Amino acid sequence: MSIVTRFAPSPTGRLHVGNIRTALHNWMLARQAGGHFLLRIDDTDTERSREEYVDAIRADLAWLGLDPDGEERQSQRLAHYETAFARLREAGRVYPCYETQQELELRRKVLLGRGLPPIYDRAALQLSDAERAAKEAAGEQPHWRFKLDHGEAIEWLDGIRGPQHFDPAQLSDPVVRRHDGSWLYMLPSAVDDIAMGVTDVLRGEDHVSNTALQIQMFTALDAAPPRFAHEALLTGSEGKLSKRLGSLGCDAFRDKGIEPEAIVALLARIGTSLPVEPILQREVLVESFDLGTFGRAPARFDDAELERLNAAVVHQFDFDHVAARLPAGMSREGWEAIRPNLSHVGEAADWWEVVTGPVEVPDMPAEDRAYLADAAAMLQWSDDPWHGLTGALKEATGRKGKSLFLPLRLALTGRASGPDMAALLPLIGEAEARARLEAAAG
Ligand code: GLU
Repeated sequence: MSIVTRFAPSPTGRLHVGNIRTALHNWMLARQAGGHFLLRIDDTDTERSREEYVDAIRADLAWLGLDPDGEERQSQRLAHYETAFARLREAGRVYPCYETQQELELRRKVLLGRGLPPIYDRAALQLSDAERAAKEAAGEQPHWRFKLDHGEAIEWLDGIRGPQHFDPAQLSDPVVRRHDGSWLYMLPSAVDDIAMGVTDVLRGEDHVSNTALQIQMFTALDAAPPRFAHEALLTGSEGKLSKRLGSLGCDAFRDKGIEPEAIVALLARIGTSLPVEPILQREVLVESFDLGTFGRAPARFDDAELERLNAAVVHQFDFDHVAARLPAGMSREGWEAIRPNLSHVGEAADWWEVVTGPVEVPDMPAEDRAYLADAAAMLQWSDDPWHGLTGALKEATGRKGKSLFLPLRLALTGRASGPDMAALLPLIGEAEARARLEAAAG
């Protein structure tokens, strides 16, 4: 059976690093097996869902290179949920409840106060037909709960967490439908996973107890549950689940000059036992993806690590990959000369100005001015003018090391450090190089 995974965001906001990581892992799991990766838009919450977020989710996935093989929208599948609901109702697996939020909250508090787990007491199941009819006649609309089967333990072998075991009697019957008829995420998700042939549900460990409930929904709908795996959540470098990570998304990354390749390389492997490396080739990441390498401890998302990876991926970028983002006129040679000095592609423009000029040269001490005058006179153009020039100056002046190189770099670039001069000088060109040396010589 081929693998089908899905990424199921609710379009109530932008994707953040945690969502991006889940999307990536589902994409990798599918790609590795030659399977299908679905984007499922969980938009049953019509009040909070926004079309602009749906567009943003698609755009973010495209920017990250995580192309889905299909897209589904829950808002267009309401009839399927209705059918499943009718079936469960028929089988006595969903039941109407009339408690208000306040009543439920009060009961919770009482239970907690007595040191008991706040499990729903199924009071609504005790209502007689007459009592229900009276409530309906009084205009009370029920919400609906799924009735858990307390008969046997809920168990599954989690792809990351190993054997899992839940006692259904220790869980509240989950609300699956609100009094206004709208759906909570739980039942539609199970219905869709069945209809779409999802074989693997990979999501954050905040969903572990939902999985226990959903496994019973699959069974109640006569379907075999998919494989489940729950990954440890992401924490910030500050060590805890941070608000900051919850709002850190593709826009923020793009603004900071972070490349999707760096994000993917990092999120593919943090929290696993595999080394985080600046791997550009998706195939390599996909091939090495293995749920068995995932740890149970939270994965630490470290901005400094992302910055390091970003520099390392930029250093590998081919000219063609970045050409559209480079300053006009910047050549392949220019990119290759400057690339090792960049942390972000955007900085290329800065260094390219050093090539095209004009450069501002700091005031040089008298002895360096004389030295630079010699340099201007001795400059000879060749395939490798820099080594020609420095070789000749070394011999003529006896200078070496910093005193040989630094005045030249300052005169030619206006800066004390930067890209390899041997690569820069040919780009600056003979006439301009001589003019800069002469200008600095005063
Ligand atoms: N829409 C749900 C969420 O964003 C989906 C969870 C799931 O993967 O099943 O939490």
